[in-house]
Amino acid sequence: MIRRVAILGGGPAGSFAAAQLASAGLAVQLFDEKLAWEKPCGGGLTFKAYHQYPFLLHNATPKRLVTETTLGASGGGQARLKLHDPLVIYSRLDLNRMLLDRAERAGAQLEKTRVLEMSRAGSGWRLRTSAGTAEADYCVLATGARNSLRDFGTQLHPRDTMAALGYYVDGDRENIDIQFLDGLEGYIWVFPRCGHLSVGICGKGVPAFELRKRLDLYMNERGISTAGARFYSHLLPCLDKGSWRHNRVAGDGWMAVGDAAGLVDPITGEGIYYAIRSGDLAAQALLAESSAAEPAAQYRRLLRRDFTADLEFGARLAKRVFQGRFLCAPLPRRMVEFTRHSPRFAAVMEDLFAGRQPYTGLKRRLLSNLNGSLYEIGMNLGFSRVVPWRFSQPRL
Ligand SMILES: Cc1cc2nc3c(=O)[nH]c(=O)nc-3n(C[C@H](O)[C@H](O)[C@H](O)COP(=O)(O)OP(=O)(O)OC[C@H]3O[C@@H](n4cnc5c(N)ncnc54)[C@H](O)[C@@H]3O)c2cc1C
Repeated sequence: MIRRVAILGGGPAGSFAAAQLASAGLAVQLFDEKLAWEKPCGGGLTFKAYHQYPFLLHNATPKRLVTETTLGASGGGQARLKLHDPLVIYSRLDLNRMLLDRAERAGAQLEKTRVLEMSRAGSGWRLRTSAGTAEADYCVLATGARNSLRDFGTQLHPRDTMAALGYYVDGDRENIDIQFLDGLEGYIWVFPRCGHLSVGICGKGVPAFELRKRLDLYMNERGISTAGARFYSHLLPCLDKGSWRHNRVAGDGWMAVGDAAGLVDPITGEGIYYAIRSGDLAAQALLAESSAAEPAAQYRRLLRRDFTADLEFGARLAKRVFQGRFLCAPLPRRMVEFTRHSPRFAAVMEDLFAGRQPYTGLKRRLLSNLNGSLYEIGMNLGFSRVVPWRFSQPRL
């Protein structure tokens, strides 16, 4: 019988799971070495997140609602994209504090301490922390991408991560900027927050110092000064296509949620929604089962049905989205040009931004709704497998 649950980590994944479990009556202890903090992040929440969890929009916590995005690509100019459902941007200090307060109000006990070790004690667990020891019947691992408890959670190999870094800069603007760079499996972002901008870059297979040079150059060209700006960097899980199938998200007596389970969109880097959603699914799996051995299997099933199949499909597309070519030019450049010139293509981009367009349905939508040019773009993304050969164009 599971009565006491230990949650290791108090970011969005851990604090949401804690709130769900505590409000269902379990005794929940949440351990985080920092509790609320400014975790390196853009802080952007998509429509998908606040549509599913309306409290993320309707609350008194400071946030920016942004309805306009500028997309750019080297050599492709810029395109303005109207977001009918805004991107909601928080400072992570504020977001984390709101989520932790919610967990505490639901009855979770918050402990500001680092968990050093997690070991079996009978059918339960003993935790060694910087402050002492604690016991639990079940553990939810929510320690983020830099999980130091290496026997539990996703085993992140270099091919499963990307570096992400940036600056918090004084300033304000009304729109988001997204900039694709030639050859980079990643992008630059400028997110307006309350009182400052989060400007950053993520990229797979590129060393952090190289990314920083590219970001500094971009900021210099755009007149965004780094003087007095606070630098940040972190790891972003970005599971390779082959890694999803064997992803270690749960075991006997434990489950991993959020970044600790590698649950991040491999194309956009969106992770906050998946952290919260996986925290929710982990809680559902725990509450549905009575013995400590079965929730792991139930959790894996729920994840697969809910979103990991789609993220796995996204991982298969990622390289081609950023580094594919179409009509003699990099695909990101063409995406920007098509967004600028084709309202129908812009609508697809808007839905991708909002999280309304799953990757698994993207090819069907491109093929059935868009004109001949977009049909060709779809084929360049690898859809030639599903269309008759005689309609295929030679790859350029
Ligand atoms: C630069 C950057 C920009 C990003 N921008 C966005 C964005 O705009 N939108 C978006 O959706 N996602 C974004 N992400 C991804 C997002 O930040 C993560 O997916 C999200 O924070 C994951 O939440 P989590 O709760 O799983 O982990 P985290 O938020 O990392 O929380 C983990 C917590 O565990 C604690 N912890 C770790 N180890 C221990 C331990 N041993 N003992 C006690 N406590 C511990 C930490 O202190 C931390 O509070 C970005 C990521 C990066 C790196």
